[in-house]
Amino acid sequence: MKAEDIDFYNLGFEFIETETMYVVDYKEGTWSEGKLVPFGSFEISPGACILNYGQGIFEGMKALKTKDGEIVLFRPGENAKRLNESAERMLIPSYDEETFIEAVKQVVKANKQYVPPADSGGALYIRPIIIGNGPILGVAPAKEYKLIIFTVPVGPYFPEGFKGIDLEISLKYTRAAPGGTGYAKTCCNYAGTMKPAKETKEKGFAQIIYLDAVHKRYIDEVGTANFFAVIDGKLATPKLTGTILPGITRKSVLELASRELGMDIEERDISYEEVFEDRCTEAFCTGTAAVITPIASITLNEKKRVFNNREPGEITVKLYDLLTGIQRLEKEDKYGWVVKVE
Ligand SMILES: *Cc1c(COP(=O)(O)O)cnc(C)c1O
Repeated sequence: MKAEDIDFYNLGFEFIETETMYVVDYKEGTWSEGKLVPFGSFEISPGACILNYGQGIFEGMKALKTKDGEIVLFRPGENAKRLNESAERMLIPSYDEETFIEAVKQVVKANKQYVPPADSGGALYIRPIIIGNGPILGVAPAKEYKLIIFTVPVGPYFPEGFKGIDLEISLKYTRAAPGGTGYAKTCCNYAGTMKPAKETKEKGFAQIIYLDAVHKRYIDEVGTANFFAVIDGKLATPKLTGTILPGITRKSVLELASRELGMDIEERDISYEEVFEDRCTEAFCTGTAAVITPIASITLNEKKRVFNNREPGEITVKLYDLLTGIQRLEKEDKYGWVVKVE
């Protein structure tokens, strides 16, 4: 779609074609020189490993426009690192992290007319993927890979203001088991979550809270976002045990809570019983797409916990203001998290 035909003030989170994408091929043991090419489809063998066995990984990032019209990224080095951690788990060849950051900058620059204006609250969502596109018959890694980075303009996550969501704890479905691939951003982890998400949405919930697969007692995460709760005045989040995705927003929120709000932070097991107790006063979830989303209520079968009359809690609001302020350079970027594209 042509940038001039887009209403940047009414964007959602839908796929829209932009002009340019970045492509790199891996053949005979090496990555080729990456290049910018017009966005478009490409041919793939029906025997491709990604099509048959799901050997693929992805990342999710945002380019934001500041009030001064600068285009900035948030901690892209963390995405580069995580891309390689996912690659390692899926036997996908690693990609140089500096080259990755440069590639992201290039593709954003090439699509800069698609970065929504600062006052729209939107962003240019950046989606890097690596797929095993070489053909294979037995279950084994592909010999050829493709890294593609494409972009999509998206609207603000809260078009109607900063509102809490209703979540349901699932005792029926789990997302990832110990020893599996939960910590990797691999395609395989997401296909299986579509049916649980559809079922919970039909009941009126925004998403599922997944419990750990072993005890069905400790909170893992929320669909595609990490979980946080304020319990006894401390900020608690599930620890990284290999079944949850190590979110960059999660990591940033922990640092901000500790260093800027002086809070005690805890990475630990959080049982679902705890969120129904009065000592749990706020809950929210985090992610590049979700930013910081307040949780208005949590339901498990007949039990329902409503937080703070459905209003975002005090800590949630403070963290949201801090994080989004730094991301658009409206607050001082003390930690050097924001990277300018030009
Ligand atoms: C991407 C993702 C997150 C959030 O990670 P961010 O780096 O904060 O965007 C959380 N959970 C899952 C399952 C994810 O895929």
